[in-house]
Amino acid sequence: MKRYKYLIKGQVQGVGFRPFVYKSALDFKLAGFVKNDINGVEIEAEGEQKDIELFEESLRLKLPPLARIDEIQKTEIEPLLKKGFAIIQSSDDSKTSYKSALIPPDTATCQECLADIKDEKNRKYHNYFATNCTNCGPRYSIVKTVPYDRKNTSMQKFKMCNSCEEEYNNPLNRRYHAQPISCNNCGPSLSLFRGDKKVDIAQKEIIQKVASLIEEGNILAIKGIGGFHIVCDASNDEAIKKLREFKHRPTKPFAIMCKDLKQIKALAYVNEKEEQLLTCKEAPIVILKKLTCNHISSLLAPNIDRIGCFLPYTALHHLLFVHVQNPIVATSANLGDEPIIISAENIFKKLPFVDFTLDFDREIINGVDDSLVQVIDDKTQILRLARGYAPKVIKLPFKSEKKILAVGANQ
Ligand SMILES: [Zn+2]
Ligand SMILES: [Zn+2]
Repeated sequence: MKRYKYLIKGQVQGVGFRPFVYKSALDFKLAGFVKNDINGVEIEAEGEQKDIELFEESLRLKLPPLARIDEIQKTEIEPLLKKGFAIIQSSDDSKTSYKSALIPPDTATCQECLADIKDEKNRKYHNYFATNCTNCGPRYSIVKTVPYDRKNTSMQKFKMCNSCEEEYNNPLNRRYHAQPISCNNCGPSLSLFRGDKKVDIAQKEIIQKVASLIEEGNILAIKGIGGFHIVCDASNDEAIKKLREFKHRPTKPFAIMCKDLKQIKALAYVNEKEEQLLTCKEAPIVILKKLTCNHISSLLAPNIDRIGCFLPYTALHHLLFVHVQNPIVATSANLGDEPIIISAENIFKKLPFVDFTLDFDREIINGVDDSLVQVIDDKTQILRLARGYAPKVIKLPFKSEKKILAVGANQ
């Protein structure tokens, strides 16, 4: 019998890493435990040497989609000769030590969650705007501190219903330890405001109402993952003209969100690489070459042959596009070059031209803009590294003696 202790650094919290370790340990009949700690994940694994080697191989080769290992420290320790493998609670005892655990970026809604929200028989998630799982949903934008556990996020105030708790505690469930887990019965809810006055409307009617407000030519603020978007119908010249006047932005292009890839391809050229970027889990805005078409207003990106397009990346966006037929302008809600607005109160205060605001009560802790990318000579160029990509760790190709802080200009 051998027992090893592993300290693992990288993107290993909030990405289904512990249940993955748990399942692998069961597969190879190992005893021990796995837990999050302030610097990453700690594992102790005990078993036959050959099984331990297979376990290590699975750590390297079969990681969950959002996980990434940057460093493994391994030490041999005394076997305890006990049976069973457990996932144990995070330790807070090293509060004073250096907090270097990585927080994963926010990730676009996955296909399985999309299927859940469309499934009429699924009472928990059908039409639920905040559906997420271990493989998708908000992360960085809702985190207050590490380790990445629900109590350290803005989901802390929502008490899980029994069914969510069951999913959360079952290592074999897709939502095992998905910290923002919530459903129609227990999670955040939507509110609609006209100006700063709350509209009296039933929860299940809000999204359809918002869709018709967009189609009627209103300007809306809609809460997303890392901030609010200013939204209007991208084919409505009047609405866009109004928005340009209010934002004092006479010609700067507005990005548009489209229902699906087909809708984007009707208004821009999309090559293979651009298609991959549009549909990847980071879901950035991709700058594309415009086609001559009349589906969208010529005022969106006047005088240039490019247009920034992106796809829905939250369950709320997907539900909105069940009712909205045209592409929508979805530009960051901010004043001039100020950071993106993350609360409805600041929309009311700073952007009084907004006709309606769609808000929900899961607080955004860290504002994060949409990322912006383009493909040049078949290479991806990231113009704004934000939602989906940030926080990002870059390993230097050399060792630095000094601590360096380097910051660049916006874009
Ligand atoms: Zn998911
Ligand atoms: Zn629930």
